Amino acid sequence: MNDSVTKIWDLSLKDIKQSIPEHTYQAWFKSLEPVSFDNGVFKINVPNTFHFEWLETNYKDMIVNVLKKQVKGNIKLQFLIKKIENDDINDQDRDENNSSNKSNSNVRQEDNFFSMGNKYVDHNKSTQLNNRYTFDNFVEGPNNQFSKVASRAVAESPGNTAFNPLLIYGGTGLGKTHLLQAIGNMVINDDPNKIVIYVSSEKFMVDFIAAIRNNKMNKFGDMYRKADILLVDDIQFFGSKESTQEQFFHTFNELYQKGKQIVITADRTPKELNGIEERLVSRFLSGLMVDIQPPDYESRIAILQKKANMDDLLIPEEILDFIAKNITSNVRELEGTMTKIFAYSSLTHTDITLALAKKVTGDILSVKKNNVVSFEAILKTVTEYYNLSENEIIGKSRVKEIAFARQIVMYLSRKLSGSSLKTIGMKLGGRDHTTVIHGYNMIEKKIKKEKKFKKDISTIKNQIDFELY
Ligand code: ADP
Ligand code: MG
Repeated sequence: MNDSVTKIWDLSLKDIKQSIPEHTYQAWFKSLEPVSFDNGVFKINVPNTFHFEWLETNYKDMIVNVLKKQVKGNIKLQFLIKKIENDDINDQDRDENNSSNKSNSNVRQEDNFFSMGNKYVDHNKSTQLNNRYTFDNFVEGPNNQFSKVASRAVAESPGNTAFNPLLIYGGTGLGKTHLLQAIGNMVINDDPNKIVIYVSSEKFMVDFIAAIRNNKMNKFGDMYRKADILLVDDIQFFGSKESTQEQFFHTFNELYQKGKQIVITADRTPKELNGIEERLVSRFLSGLMVDIQPPDYESRIAILQKKANMDDLLIPEEILDFIAKNITSNVRELEGTMTKIFAYSSLTHTDITLALAKKVTGDILSVKKNNVVSFEAILKTVTEYYNLSENEIIGKSRVKEIAFARQIVMYLSRKLSGSSLKTIGMKLGGRDHTTVIHGYNMIEKKIKKEKKFKKDISTIKNQIDFELY
Protein backbone atom coordinates (compact mmCIF):
# COMPACT_ATOMS: atom_id res chain seq x y z
CA MET A 1 0.00 0.00 0.00
CA ASN A 2 1.47 3.36 -0.77
CA ASP A 3 1.78 6.30 1.53
CA SER A 4 -0.76 8.49 -0.12
CA VAL A 5 -3.53 5.96 0.49
CA THR A 6 -2.81 5.99 4.20
CA LYS A 7 -2.60 9.74 4.17
CA ILE A 8 -5.91 10.23 2.40
CA TRP A 9 -7.51 7.83 4.81
CA ASP A 10 -6.02 9.41 7.92
CA LEU A 11 -7.26 12.83 6.88
CA SER A 12 -10.66 11.44 6.05
CA LEU A 13 -10.87 9.75 9.42
CA LYS A 14 -10.16 13.05 11.10
CA ASP A 15 -13.10 14.56 9.29
CA ILE A 16 -15.34 11.65 10.12
CA LYS A 17 -14.34 11.73 13.75
CA GLN A 18 -15.59 15.26 14.04
CA SER A 19 -18.99 14.55 12.66
CA ILE A 20 -20.02 11.50 14.66
CA PRO A 21 -20.11 10.54 18.34
CA GLU A 22 -16.94 9.05 19.75
CA HIS A 23 -18.45 5.64 20.46
CA THR A 24 -19.72 5.37 16.91
CA TYR A 25 -16.28 6.20 15.67
CA GLN A 26 -14.75 3.59 17.95
CA ALA A 27 -17.30 1.05 16.94
CA TRP A 28 -17.29 1.35 13.19
CA PHE A 29 -14.30 3.30 11.97
CA LYS A 30 -11.33 2.59 14.12
CA SER A 31 -10.81 -0.90 12.82
CA LEU A 32 -11.04 0.00 9.13
CA GLU A 33 -7.89 -0.29 7.07
CA PRO A 34 -7.29 1.45 3.76
CA VAL A 35 -6.04 -0.98 1.13
CA SER A 36 -5.54 0.84 -2.15
CA PHE A 37 -6.64 3.68 -4.33
CA ASP A 38 -6.43 2.91 -8.03
CA ASN A 39 -8.43 4.11 -11.00
CA GLY A 40 -10.73 6.07 -8.79
CA VAL A 41 -11.59 3.09 -6.60
CA PHE A 42 -10.81 3.38 -2.93
CA LYS A 43 -10.68 0.03 -1.16
CA ILE A 44 -11.08 -0.44 2.54
CA ASN A 45 -10.78 -3.56 4.65
CA VAL A 46 -13.62 -4.15 7.08
CA PRO A 47 -13.43 -6.78 9.82
CA ASN A 48 -16.48 -8.87 9.02
CA THR A 49 -19.76 -9.15 7.17
CA PHE A 50 -21.79 -7.59 9.92
CA HIS A 51 -19.50 -4.60 9.95
CA PHE A 52 -19.65 -4.39 6.19
CA GLU A 53 -23.43 -4.38 6.10
CA TRP A 54 -23.60 -1.77 8.77
CA LEU A 55 -21.26 0.58 6.94
CA GLU A 56 -22.97 -0.01 3.62
CA THR A 57 -26.32 0.88 5.08
CA ASN A 58 -25.41 3.69 7.39
CA TYR A 59 -22.16 5.33 6.51
CA LYS A 60 -21.21 4.65 2.93
CA ASP A 61 -22.35 8.01 1.58
CA MET A 62 -20.66 9.84 4.35
CA ILE A 63 -17.35 8.07 3.75
CA VAL A 64 -17.58 8.68 0.01
CA ASN A 65 -18.18 12.38 0.56
CA VAL A 66 -15.29 12.75 2.92
CA LEU A 67 -12.97 10.88 0.59
CA LYS A 68 -14.10 12.98 -2.35
CA LYS A 69 -13.07 16.06 -0.47
CA GLN A 70 -9.62 14.67 0.12
CA VAL A 71 -8.90 13.52 -3.41
CA LYS A 72 -10.75 16.44 -4.96
CA GLY A 73 -12.55 14.28 -7.43
CA ASN A 74 -14.98 11.45 -7.84
CA ILE A 75 -14.33 8.17 -6.16
CA LYS A 76 -15.91 4.82 -5.85
CA LEU A 77 -15.80 3.09 -2.50
CA GLN A 78 -15.29 -0.61 -2.15
CA PHE A 79 -15.32 -2.56 1.10
CA LEU A 80 -13.36 -5.76 1.36
CA ILE A 81 -14.31 -8.18 4.06
CA LYS A 82 -11.20 -9.00 5.95
CA LYS A 83 -12.38 -11.60 8.36
CA ILE A 84 -13.14 -14.72 6.44
CA GLU A 85 -16.06 -15.94 8.40
CA ASN A 86 -16.01 -19.45 7.17
CA ASP A 87 -15.18 -20.70 3.83
CA ASP A 88 -14.46 -17.77 1.68
CA ILE A 89 -11.22 -16.84 0.21
CA ASN A 90 -9.51 -13.61 1.04
CA ASP A 91 -11.19 -10.96 -1.02
CA GLN A 92 -7.98 -9.17 -1.61
CA ASP A 93 -6.40 -12.19 -3.17
CA ARG A 94 -9.43 -12.74 -5.24
CA ASP A 95 -9.27 -9.24 -6.61
CA GLU A 96 -5.68 -9.63 -7.55
CA ASN A 97 -6.19 -12.94 -9.19
CA ASN A 98 -9.45 -12.58 -10.87
CA SER A 99 -9.58 -9.50 -12.98
CA SER A 100 -13.05 -10.25 -14.25
CA ASN A 101 -14.36 -9.73 -10.77
CA LYS A 102 -15.04 -6.05 -10.62
CA SER A 103 -18.06 -5.97 -8.43
CA ASN A 104 -18.60 -2.63 -6.79
CA SER A 105 -19.29 -3.68 -3.28
CA ASN A 106 -17.83 -6.77 -1.97
CA VAL A 107 -20.40 -9.23 -0.89
CA ARG A 108 -19.07 -12.66 -0.17
CA GLN A 109 -19.20 -14.64 -3.33
CA GLU A 110 -18.89 -18.24 -4.20
CA ASP A 111 -15.50 -18.95 -5.49
CA ASN A 112 -13.38 -21.79 -6.45
CA PHE A 113 -9.84 -21.89 -5.29
CA PHE A 114 -8.68 -23.46 -8.51
CA SER A 115 -9.02 -20.19 -10.30
CA MET A 116 -6.48 -18.71 -7.99
CA GLY A 117 -3.30 -20.22 -9.28
CA ASN A 118 -0.74 -21.44 -6.83
CA LYS A 119 -0.98 -18.52 -4.57
CA TYR A 120 -3.54 -20.22 -2.44
CA VAL A 121 -1.17 -23.01 -1.71
CA ASP A 122 1.97 -21.01 -1.23
CA HIS A 123 0.75 -18.12 0.76
CA ASN A 124 -0.04 -18.49 4.36
CA LYS A 125 -1.83 -15.23 4.10
CA SER A 126 -4.50 -17.08 2.23
CA THR A 127 -4.99 -19.87 4.69
CA GLN A 128 -8.19 -18.29 5.87
CA LEU A 129 -7.02 -17.66 9.35
CA ASN A 130 -8.57 -14.83 11.26
CA ASN A 131 -5.95 -13.13 13.35
CA ARG A 132 -8.39 -12.22 16.09
CA TYR A 133 -8.45 -15.88 17.03
CA THR A 134 -5.40 -16.17 19.25
CA PHE A 135 -4.59 -17.95 22.47
CA ASP A 136 -4.27 -14.59 24.18
CA ASN A 137 -7.84 -13.73 23.26
CA PHE A 138 -9.13 -17.06 24.41
CA VAL A 139 -10.44 -16.81 27.94
CA GLU A 140 -9.49 -19.82 29.94
CA GLY A 141 -11.73 -21.46 32.49
CA PRO A 142 -12.36 -24.88 33.99
CA ASN A 143 -14.60 -25.59 31.01
CA ASN A 144 -11.88 -25.37 28.38
CA GLN A 145 -8.55 -25.44 30.16
CA PHE A 146 -7.42 -28.81 28.99
CA SER A 147 -8.35 -28.07 25.39
CA LYS A 148 -6.42 -24.86 25.49
CA VAL A 149 -3.32 -26.45 26.99
CA ALA A 150 -3.36 -29.27 24.47
CA SER A 151 -3.89 -26.87 21.57
CA ARG A 152 -1.03 -24.72 22.70
CA ALA A 153 1.26 -27.70 23.04
CA VAL A 154 0.43 -28.75 19.51
CA ALA A 155 0.98 -25.22 18.20
CA GLU A 156 4.37 -25.07 19.88
CA SER A 157 5.65 -28.23 18.30
CA PRO A 158 3.32 -29.38 15.57
CA GLY A 159 3.71 -33.03 14.74
CA ASN A 160 6.07 -33.58 17.63
CA THR A 161 3.72 -34.26 20.48
CA ALA A 162 1.76 -37.34 21.34
CA PHE A 163 -1.29 -35.33 20.43
CA ASN A 164 -1.62 -36.27 16.81
CA PRO A 165 -4.29 -36.01 15.69
CA LEU A 166 -5.74 -33.65 18.23
CA LEU A 167 -9.51 -33.72 18.28
CA ILE A 168 -11.41 -30.91 19.95
CA TYR A 169 -15.08 -31.50 20.49
CA GLY A 170 -17.91 -29.60 22.12
CA GLY A 171 -21.22 -27.86 21.52
CA THR A 172 -21.74 -25.05 19.12
CA GLY A 173 -20.37 -21.60 19.89
CA LEU A 174 -17.98 -22.77 22.58
CA GLY A 175 -14.69 -21.84 20.94
CA LYS A 176 -13.62 -24.81 18.82
CA THR A 177 -12.96 -22.77 15.70
CA HIS A 178 -11.27 -20.15 17.83
CA LEU A 179 -8.81 -22.68 19.24
CA LEU A 180 -8.23 -24.32 15.88
CA GLN A 181 -7.37 -21.00 14.30
CA ALA A 182 -5.29 -19.95 17.29
CA ILE A 183 -3.13 -22.99 16.64
CA GLY A 184 -2.73 -21.98 13.01
CA ASN A 185 -1.94 -18.39 13.87
CA MET A 186 0.68 -19.37 16.39
CA VAL A 187 2.38 -21.81 14.04
CA ILE A 188 2.63 -19.18 11.32
CA ASN A 189 3.84 -16.54 13.73
CA ASP A 190 6.57 -18.80 14.99
CA ASP A 191 7.63 -19.86 11.54
CA PRO A 192 6.15 -18.07 8.54
CA ASN A 193 7.48 -20.76 6.23
CA LYS A 194 5.23 -23.38 7.71
CA ILE A 195 2.27 -24.16 5.55
CA VAL A 196 -0.91 -24.09 7.55
CA ILE A 197 -4.12 -25.19 5.95
CA TYR A 198 -7.35 -24.42 7.68
CA VAL A 199 -10.46 -25.83 6.10
CA SER A 200 -13.97 -26.62 7.16
CA SER A 201 -14.98 -30.14 6.29
CA GLU A 202 -17.75 -28.65 4.22
CA LYS A 203 -15.27 -26.71 2.14
CA PHE A 204 -13.04 -29.72 1.83
CA MET A 205 -15.98 -31.55 0.36
CA VAL A 206 -17.07 -28.77 -1.98
CA ASP A 207 -13.51 -28.37 -3.28
CA PHE A 208 -13.13 -32.08 -3.64
CA ILE A 209 -16.27 -32.30 -5.76
CA ALA A 210 -15.15 -29.33 -7.84
CA ALA A 211 -11.78 -30.99 -8.34
CA ILE A 212 -13.38 -34.13 -9.66
CA ARG A 213 -15.65 -32.17 -11.94
CA ASN A 214 -12.81 -30.07 -13.31
CA ASN A 215 -10.29 -32.85 -13.57
CA LYS A 216 -8.08 -31.20 -11.01
CA MET A 217 -7.68 -34.01 -8.55
CA ASN A 218 -3.89 -33.80 -8.70
CA LYS A 219 -3.91 -30.21 -7.80
CA PHE A 220 -6.34 -30.85 -4.99
CA GLY A 221 -4.19 -33.63 -3.58
CA ASP A 222 -0.98 -31.60 -3.94
CA MET A 223 -2.40 -28.72 -2.08
CA TYR A 224 -3.23 -30.73 1.01
CA ARG A 225 -0.10 -32.81 0.77
CA LYS A 226 2.00 -29.70 1.23
CA ALA A 227 0.55 -28.88 4.61
CA ASP A 228 2.74 -28.89 7.66
CA ILE A 229 -0.34 -28.64 9.72
CA LEU A 230 -3.85 -29.41 8.62
CA LEU A 231 -6.74 -27.93 10.58
CA VAL A 232 -10.12 -29.39 9.75
CA ASP A 233 -13.15 -27.75 11.28
CA ASP A 234 -16.52 -29.38 11.94
CA ILE A 235 -15.73 -32.88 10.85
CA GLN A 236 -19.32 -33.95 11.52
CA PHE A 237 -20.20 -32.67 8.05
CA PHE A 238 -18.36 -35.62 6.59
CA GLY A 239 -21.12 -37.90 7.79
CA SER A 240 -22.32 -40.21 5.02
CA LYS A 241 -20.23 -38.44 2.38
CA GLU A 242 -18.38 -41.58 1.52
CA SER A 243 -16.08 -40.52 -1.24
CA THR A 244 -15.14 -37.35 0.58
CA GLN A 245 -14.25 -39.42 3.61
CA GLU A 246 -12.21 -41.72 1.45
CA GLN A 247 -10.28 -38.77 0.07
CA PHE A 248 -9.84 -37.31 3.50
CA PHE A 249 -8.64 -40.65 4.82
CA HIS A 250 -5.86 -40.69 2.21
CA THR A 251 -4.88 -37.12 2.92
CA PHE A 252 -4.92 -37.85 6.60
CA ASN A 253 -2.74 -40.94 6.32
CA GLU A 254 -0.26 -39.32 4.06
CA LEU A 255 0.26 -36.35 6.34
CA TYR A 256 0.24 -38.47 9.44
CA GLN A 257 2.92 -40.76 8.08
CA LYS A 258 5.08 -37.79 7.28
CA GLY A 259 4.76 -36.67 10.89
CA LYS A 260 2.64 -33.65 10.04
CA GLN A 261 0.18 -32.33 12.56
CA ILE A 262 -3.54 -32.75 12.15
CA VAL A 263 -6.14 -31.05 14.31
CA ILE A 264 -9.83 -31.69 13.97
CA THR A 265 -12.94 -30.30 15.58
CA ALA A 266 -16.40 -31.81 15.90
CA ASP A 267 -19.59 -30.89 17.65
CA ARG A 268 -19.82 -34.30 19.30
CA THR A 269 -17.65 -37.23 20.32
CA PRO A 270 -16.24 -39.47 17.59
CA LYS A 271 -18.50 -42.27 18.74
CA GLU A 272 -21.51 -40.08 18.13
CA LEU A 273 -20.42 -39.06 14.67
CA ASN A 274 -23.15 -40.61 12.62
CA GLY A 275 -22.19 -41.87 9.21
CA ILE A 276 -18.45 -41.60 9.67
CA GLU A 277 -16.52 -44.71 8.82
CA GLU A 278 -15.10 -46.81 11.58
CA ARG A 279 -11.56 -46.65 10.26
CA LEU A 280 -11.64 -42.87 10.21
CA VAL A 281 -13.07 -42.74 13.71
CA SER A 282 -10.38 -45.08 14.99
CA ARG A 283 -7.76 -42.81 13.44
CA PHE A 284 -9.22 -39.91 15.36
CA LEU A 285 -9.16 -41.94 18.53
CA SER A 286 -5.49 -42.75 18.12
CA GLY A 287 -4.49 -39.24 19.13
CA LEU A 288 -5.84 -37.04 21.87
CA MET A 289 -9.44 -36.06 22.40
CA VAL A 290 -10.28 -32.99 24.42
CA ASP A 291 -13.64 -31.39 25.08
CA ILE A 292 -14.97 -27.90 25.66
CA GLN A 293 -17.90 -27.36 27.98
CA PRO A 294 -20.11 -24.29 28.32
CA PRO A 295 -18.47 -21.51 30.34
CA ASP A 296 -19.35 -20.92 33.99
CA TYR A 297 -20.42 -17.53 35.29
CA GLU A 298 -16.90 -16.25 35.97
CA SER A 299 -15.73 -17.26 32.52
CA ARG A 300 -18.73 -15.59 30.96
CA ILE A 301 -17.90 -12.34 32.70
CA ALA A 302 -14.27 -12.64 31.68
CA ILE A 303 -15.25 -13.26 28.06
CA LEU A 304 -17.57 -10.25 28.01
CA GLN A 305 -14.89 -8.10 29.54
CA LYS A 306 -12.32 -9.22 27.03
CA LYS A 307 -14.68 -8.54 24.19
CA ALA A 308 -15.44 -5.07 25.51
CA ASN A 309 -11.74 -4.36 25.86
CA MET A 310 -11.03 -5.50 22.36
CA ASP A 311 -13.57 -3.06 21.02
CA ASP A 312 -12.36 -0.34 23.35
CA LEU A 313 -15.67 -0.19 25.12
CA LEU A 314 -16.32 0.54 28.72
CA ILE A 315 -19.32 -1.35 29.94
CA PRO A 316 -20.51 -1.02 33.53
CA GLU A 317 -20.12 -4.13 35.62
CA GLU A 318 -23.81 -4.45 36.43
CA ILE A 319 -24.49 -4.76 32.73
CA LEU A 320 -21.89 -7.46 32.23
CA ASP A 321 -23.35 -9.22 35.23
CA PHE A 322 -26.83 -9.01 33.80
CA ILE A 323 -25.78 -10.44 30.46
CA ALA A 324 -23.68 -13.19 32.02
CA LYS A 325 -26.55 -14.25 34.25
CA ASN A 326 -29.04 -14.39 31.45
CA ILE A 327 -27.14 -15.66 28.45
CA THR A 328 -25.67 -18.89 29.56
CA SER A 329 -25.54 -21.44 26.84
CA ASN A 330 -22.83 -20.41 24.47
CA VAL A 331 -20.14 -17.88 23.84
CA ARG A 332 -21.36 -16.93 20.42
CA GLU A 333 -24.64 -15.81 21.97
CA LEU A 334 -22.78 -13.84 24.60
CA GLU A 335 -20.86 -12.04 21.92
CA GLY A 336 -23.96 -11.62 19.81
CA THR A 337 -25.73 -9.96 22.72
CA MET A 338 -22.87 -7.55 23.17
CA THR A 339 -22.76 -6.75 19.49
CA LYS A 340 -26.48 -6.08 19.45
CA ILE A 341 -26.39 -3.83 22.49
CA PHE A 342 -23.51 -2.06 20.99
CA ALA A 343 -25.15 -1.67 17.57
CA TYR A 344 -28.35 -0.49 19.14
CA SER A 345 -26.61 2.13 21.19
CA SER A 346 -24.65 3.29 18.21
CA LEU A 347 -27.70 3.47 15.99
CA THR A 348 -29.86 5.35 18.43
CA HIS A 349 -26.98 7.44 19.74
CA THR A 350 -27.75 6.44 23.28
CA ASP A 351 -25.45 5.29 26.02
CA ILE A 352 -25.19 1.69 26.96
CA THR A 353 -27.38 1.38 30.01
CA LEU A 354 -28.78 -1.47 31.99
CA ALA A 355 -32.20 -0.72 30.53
CA LEU A 356 -30.82 -1.09 27.03
CA ALA A 357 -29.05 -4.30 27.96
CA LYS A 358 -32.29 -5.63 29.41
CA LYS A 359 -34.21 -4.78 26.33
CA VAL A 360 -31.77 -6.41 23.92
CA THR A 361 -31.20 -9.44 26.12
CA GLY A 362 -34.92 -9.69 26.69
CA ASP A 363 -35.52 -9.73 22.95
CA ILE A 364 -33.07 -12.54 22.55
CA LEU A 365 -34.42 -14.51 25.48
CA SER A 366 -38.00 -14.10 24.44
CA VAL A 367 -37.21 -15.31 20.96
CA LYS A 368 -35.94 -18.41 22.66
CA LYS A 369 -38.69 -18.64 25.22
CA ASN A 370 -41.52 -17.96 22.86
CA ASN A 371 -40.05 -20.54 20.64
CA VAL A 372 -40.21 -18.75 17.39
CA VAL A 373 -38.06 -21.52 16.08
CA SER A 374 -39.43 -22.43 12.72
CA PHE A 375 -40.44 -25.89 11.68
CA GLU A 376 -37.99 -25.55 8.81
CA ALA A 377 -35.08 -24.86 11.15
CA ILE A 378 -35.98 -27.92 13.18
CA LEU A 379 -36.32 -30.10 10.13
CA LYS A 380 -33.01 -28.90 8.78
CA THR A 381 -31.13 -29.48 12.01
CA VAL A 382 -32.54 -32.94 12.65
CA THR A 383 -31.87 -33.87 9.04
CA GLU A 384 -28.27 -32.80 9.33
CA TYR A 385 -27.79 -34.41 12.68
CA TYR A 386 -28.85 -37.80 11.41
CA ASN A 387 -27.46 -37.36 7.93
CA LEU A 388 -30.72 -37.85 6.17
CA SER A 389 -32.42 -35.80 3.52
CA GLU A 390 -35.48 -33.66 4.14
CA ASN A 391 -37.34 -35.63 1.53
CA GLU A 392 -36.73 -38.82 3.41
CA ILE A 393 -38.18 -37.37 6.57
CA ILE A 394 -41.20 -35.86 4.88
CA GLY A 395 -41.67 -38.88 2.66
CA LYS A 396 -43.29 -42.22 3.27
CA SER A 397 -40.32 -44.33 4.24
CA ARG A 398 -40.78 -46.66 7.20
CA VAL A 399 -37.10 -47.39 7.54
CA LYS A 400 -36.41 -47.34 11.25
CA GLU A 401 -33.83 -44.55 11.29
CA ILE A 402 -35.95 -42.32 9.13
CA ALA A 403 -39.14 -42.89 11.06
CA PHE A 404 -37.25 -42.20 14.25
CA ALA A 405 -35.78 -38.92 13.00
CA ARG A 406 -39.27 -37.96 11.86
CA GLN A 407 -40.59 -38.51 15.36
CA ILE A 408 -37.89 -36.27 16.71
CA VAL A 409 -39.00 -33.56 14.31
CA MET A 410 -42.54 -34.03 15.59
CA TYR A 411 -41.40 -33.82 19.17
CA LEU A 412 -39.23 -30.75 18.74
CA SER A 413 -41.76 -28.95 16.57
CA ARG A 414 -44.40 -29.47 19.21
CA LYS A 415 -42.05 -28.35 21.94
CA LEU A 416 -40.35 -25.47 20.19
CA SER A 417 -42.21 -24.11 17.22
CA GLY A 418 -45.59 -23.52 18.77
CA SER A 419 -47.23 -25.02 15.71
CA SER A 420 -50.38 -27.05 16.17
CA LEU A 421 -50.31 -30.82 15.83
CA LYS A 422 -52.32 -30.48 12.68
CA THR A 423 -49.84 -28.07 11.11
CA ILE A 424 -46.91 -30.23 12.07
CA GLY A 425 -48.58 -33.26 10.53
CA MET A 426 -49.32 -31.32 7.40
CA LYS A 427 -45.77 -30.09 7.03
CA LEU A 428 -44.52 -33.59 7.53
CA GLY A 429 -46.03 -34.79 4.30
CA GLY A 430 -49.68 -34.64 5.31
CA ARG A 431 -49.65 -36.92 8.32
CA ASP A 432 -52.53 -37.18 10.72
CA HIS A 433 -52.34 -35.31 14.02
CA THR A 434 -52.67 -38.58 15.95
CA THR A 435 -49.47 -39.76 14.28
CA VAL A 436 -47.78 -36.63 15.55
CA ILE A 437 -49.02 -37.24 19.09
CA HIS A 438 -47.78 -40.78 18.94
CA GLY A 439 -44.36 -39.62 17.72
CA TYR A 440 -44.20 -37.01 20.43
CA ASN A 441 -44.99 -39.53 23.14
CA MET A 442 -42.46 -42.05 21.89
CA ILE A 443 -39.67 -39.51 21.97
CA GLU A 444 -40.69 -38.14 25.34
CA LYS A 445 -40.57 -41.61 26.83
CA LYS A 446 -37.20 -42.33 25.32
CA ILE A 447 -35.78 -39.10 26.68
CA LYS A 448 -36.90 -40.06 30.17
CA LYS A 449 -35.42 -43.51 29.87
CA GLU A 450 -32.11 -42.94 28.14
CA LYS A 451 -29.54 -40.48 29.35
CA LYS A 452 -27.55 -40.57 26.14
CA PHE A 453 -30.58 -39.88 24.03
CA LYS A 454 -31.48 -36.97 26.24
CA LYS A 455 -28.06 -35.57 25.50
CA ASP A 456 -28.56 -36.06 21.77
CA ILE A 457 -31.78 -34.11 21.92
CA SER A 458 -30.20 -31.27 23.81
CA THR A 459 -27.35 -31.15 21.29
CA ILE A 460 -29.89 -30.91 18.51
CA LYS A 461 -31.79 -28.22 20.38
CA ASN A 462 -28.65 -26.20 20.82
CA GLN A 463 -27.99 -26.36 17.15
CA ILE A 464 -31.45 -25.10 16.37
CA ASP A 465 -31.03 -22.17 18.69
CA PHE A 466 -27.83 -21.32 17.01
CA GLU A 467 -29.58 -20.97 13.67
CA LEU A 468 -31.48 -18.06 15.05
CA TYR A 469 -28.56 -15.74 15.36
P1 ADP B 1 -17.46 -23.10 17.75
O1 ADP B 1 -16.48 -23.27 16.63
O2 ADP B 1 -17.20 -24.02 18.90
O3 ADP B 1 -18.88 -23.17 17.30
P2 ADP B 1 -16.33 -20.47 17.87
O4 ADP B 1 -14.90 -20.82 18.02
O5 ADP B 1 -16.77 -20.00 16.54
O6 ADP B 1 -17.26 -21.65 18.35
O7 ADP B 1 -16.70 -19.40 18.99
C1 ADP B 1 -17.79 -18.51 18.89
C2 ADP B 1 -17.36 -17.13 19.30
O8 ADP B 1 -17.09 -17.12 20.68
C3 ADP B 1 -16.08 -16.69 18.62
O9 ADP B 1 -16.18 -15.35 18.30
C4 ADP B 1 -15.01 -16.92 19.66
O10 ADP B 1 -13.95 -16.00 19.52
C5 ADP B 1 -15.75 -16.71 20.94
N1 ADP B 1 -15.23 -17.53 22.02
C6 ADP B 1 -15.54 -18.81 22.30
N2 ADP B 1 -14.90 -19.25 23.38
C7 ADP B 1 -14.16 -18.21 23.83
C8 ADP B 1 -13.27 -18.03 24.93
N3 ADP B 1 -13.01 -19.01 25.79
N4 ADP B 1 -12.69 -16.82 25.06
C9 ADP B 1 -12.94 -15.82 24.20
N5 ADP B 1 -13.78 -15.92 23.15
C10 ADP B 1 -14.38 -17.11 22.96
MG1 MG C 1 -16.83 -23.56 14.63
